[in-house]
Amino acid sequence: MPNVIVNYDGTITSTPRVIVAPETVEQIQSVLRNPAHYPSPVRAMGSNHSLTPCAASQGTIIDISRMKRFSIDTSNPAGATLTAQAGLEIVEASQELRKQGLQLMTNVEIGNLTLGSAACCQTKDGLDGIEFGQVGSYVTRIKWVTPAGDLAEASAAESPDLLRMVRGSYGLAGVVYEVTLRVKPIETLHFTYLPRPVDELTQEEVDQLYTSAEGMVCWTIGRTSVFQVRHRVDHPGVLSSIQAAARKRLWNYADAHYAHIIDQFVANKGLRDAVEGGFMDAEKLLFSGLRLFGGITVLAPDKIIDYRQTKQQDRYAFTFWAFPRARWLPVLREYLDFADAHFKATGFRPNMPLGAYRILRDTNSILSYSHDGDIFSLDPIHSIVDAPEWKQFLVEFNEFAFQRGGTPLLNQSPWIERRHLEAAYGQRWTELSEWVRTMDPYGRMLTPFFADLLSPKLTPAQDK
Ligand SMILES: Cc1cc2nc3c(=O)[nH]c(=O)nc-3n(C[C@H](O)[C@H](O)[C@H](O)COP(=O)(O)OP(=O)(O)OC[C@H]3O[C@@H](n4cnc5c(N)ncnc54)[C@H](O)[C@@H]3O)c2cc1C
Repeated sequence: MPNVIVNYDGTITSTPRVIVAPETVEQIQSVLRNPAHYPSPVRAMGSNHSLTPCAASQGTIIDISRMKRFSIDTSNPAGATLTAQAGLEIVEASQELRKQGLQLMTNVEIGNLTLGSAACCQTKDGLDGIEFGQVGSYVTRIKWVTPAGDLAEASAAESPDLLRMVRGSYGLAGVVYEVTLRVKPIETLHFTYLPRPVDELTQEEVDQLYTSAEGMVCWTIGRTSVFQVRHRVDHPGVLSSIQAAARKRLWNYADAHYAHIIDQFVANKGLRDAVEGGFMDAEKLLFSGLRLFGGITVLAPDKIIDYRQTKQQDRYAFTFWAFPRARWLPVLREYLDFADAHFKATGFRPNMPLGAYRILRDTNSILSYSHDGDIFSLDPIHSIVDAPEWKQFLVEFNEFAFQRGGTPLLNQSPWIERRHLEAAYGQRWTELSEWVRTMDPYGRMLTPFFADLLSPKLTPAQDK
């Protein structure tokens, strides 16, 4: 029986010749040193929630899920830190930190993100982004096993330049086994909701919201944008846990579930359009209600959602492209026209609200997508994830975003191509590609996915 691994949203199937789940660093070293038993390319796999084949391999997959040991250090006057093995998921890390009144600096929504992936891949969070919206920017030390099986380490104190490269390395320089990151006392957050017709929005208004908010995401439903803005408060209030639970249910179940039911059972396109319109109206009503009641209050770690139990039919997928914040509003308007035209031509449109994340300038990783300035993203989201129509939409959306100077992510923007990365990351993409070649001259970690994307195109390894 061949090994078959399917990712969270069901769109990516990997058939590695070998799957190995090490429990110690020495075991990872022996895997990398033995191509005869563990054929190339070797890929570390976290919880396999990426939306691209970045964790897939036809050779060897190192399943990191048995490595979850951790320690919390509160003795350092410069701030508390969490040191954990790479397989610990942030939802697990957050539960342990909570016992000591602590939280992660960036509580990304995806609770199943492993710390190994968080340290060396791209992440995003708009609501904790007071300083940085990328988890890796708070990682102060990374330890990994090189493609040759040796131990290596980079830290903010001793080797910041190397750390900057490893933060964007996607496992191409080896397998991360331990990560240290800054943590802080738990904060209470209050979110307010401001619905605005897209056609009435002005750049000044978006700028004002952008600069005055501590954190912000925007949900666009039809032609109404709802700005969810973060404010810090001192006390959570009695309703916060109920409000957090309701928010989790919405993301983990309700939204995708209803969108899915509408798509599956309302076959007539005209009727489906009307029903979807009704669903979107209900969502708008929900946001208006939230506005009326003054918003919701939650503890920051409650933003983290555990997607492990989500049923297949309730799952959703998305894409993410970042745009310089000054260009976001015109691009949003063009996107709405693009999505309408696509719907007229094909009968397909994403059935969930369009997301947008505000992320401030951040140069901590070579692959930071806000390296050159603040960004606001466009994230089409869809609940039936295996539909060929969704793929076609994604490919056309990539071209739309590429033409408008957008920046894609390697783990969250499906169907990206080398030309997209070369245009978006420019010299940094060449620099990363060259560095990868020096770190892994024989291509032990190089899958066809990465070989095609790196610039110039590289040839995957041939084991001797
Ligand atoms: C429903 C849903 C919601 C999401 N929400 C968010 C969100 O709010 N914010 C966000 O940023 N992302 C989000 N994502 C995207 C996803 O979380 C990221 O793509 C993330 O990288 C997945 O982490 P993982 O542990 O599953 O990594 P995997 O998908 O398993 O791996 C990602 C990459 O990291 C490499 N890797 C993994 N572990 C190691 C290691 N130990 N050493 C070296 N390389 C390693 C893999 O080879 C691969 O290239 C979401 C995804 C889904 C499906």
